[in-house]
Amino acid sequence: MTTTPNDPAALAEAVRRGERRALARAITLIESTRADHRAQAEALLAALLPHTGNSVRVGITGVPGVGKSTFIEAFGLHVIGRGHKVAVLAIDPTSQRTGGSILGDKTRMVDLSREEEAFIRPSPAGATLGGVARRTREAMLVCEAAGFDVIVVETVGVGQSETAVADMVDLFLLLLLPAGGDELQGIKKGIMELADVIVVNKADGDLANTARHTVADYRHAVTLLRHGADWRVPVLSCSAFEKRGIDAVWDTIGAHRTAMEKNGTRSARRAEQARAWLWSEIRETLIDAFRANPQVRAELPDLEARVTSGGLIPTAAARTLLGHFLGREVAARD
Ligand code: GDP
Repeated sequence: MTTTPNDPAALAEAVRRGERRALARAITLIESTRADHRAQAEALLAALLPHTGNSVRVGITGVPGVGKSTFIEAFGLHVIGRGHKVAVLAIDPTSQRTGGSILGDKTRMVDLSREEEAFIRPSPAGATLGGVARRTREAMLVCEAAGFDVIVVETVGVGQSETAVADMVDLFLLLLLPAGGDELQGIKKGIMELADVIVVNKADGDLANTARHTVADYRHAVTLLRHGADWRVPVLSCSAFEKRGIDAVWDTIGAHRTAMEKNGTRSARRAEQARAWLWSEIRETLIDAFRANPQVRAELPDLEARVTSGGLIPTAAARTLLGHFLGREVAARD
């Protein structure tokens, strides 16, 4: 058998052996949009799938400057000290606009990146959020097959990417600043509801006292949130900078896992995530095919302009375009 660089079977074997270059190459393959690469990526994932699913999947969000990279570095080093292997993946919606990624900054997590037991991968740039989310989900599976048993998915707490991350992890952790309420913190509405654990960072020096107040405020706030009966959202504090309180966060993640495994929520959540992933794939693939249709492409700008100027009802415009796409008349929906 000849082995091309991307031969999926050979690459899968190398990933399973934990070869770092193979892991990096596998993720590059997954991130490629070339049709032949896509086919190879899917073969690779099929080969790896039986070896996935055995990690703790943790999502982390917080506004820029809250200390995410400092926290993840301290957290990663702590977890490695406990005998685990940590992969850090990022979903950075800002990379779509700038083409470069804040999260991809090479100076971040320097100590962690030197560790043999750590793997850090910045967000793939230049794609839609849906595309980034899909690649991150797939990268997560590859990392699991390579033996990483703690996966951290990081995102900036400023947009829709939080929902995408919450939809792919077992536990979603919200990092807060020692400061006043949600608005002062720059936290978007709805993000609190996604959190399974809340951690107030920078509980040190002059900020220690403010951090204590913030913890108390949010302990009260979470009692107003609806959550599963078996899990009350804990509010902790830490200093990522001084590496204090990190052990308690790790212990809390363990307690969450135990609670979720006991009541079956963990497998139910993962099953639901797989179903949601399927449907988002279907949606996005359909939309791509729709947009690629020549007649749709020719008429879309005009119809869009007429809809936005109020000269045409969106329902009618959608039916016309879908008619082109499907090659038949589309009946009105009820
Ligand atoms: P990110 O943008 O959320 O990734 O935040 P960074 O990790 O880059 O941290 C932003 C700033 O906050 C940096 O200057 C860090 O040194 C500082 N910082 C991070 N964690 C702590 C902490 O626990 N205590 C204090 N005092 N500063 C921190």
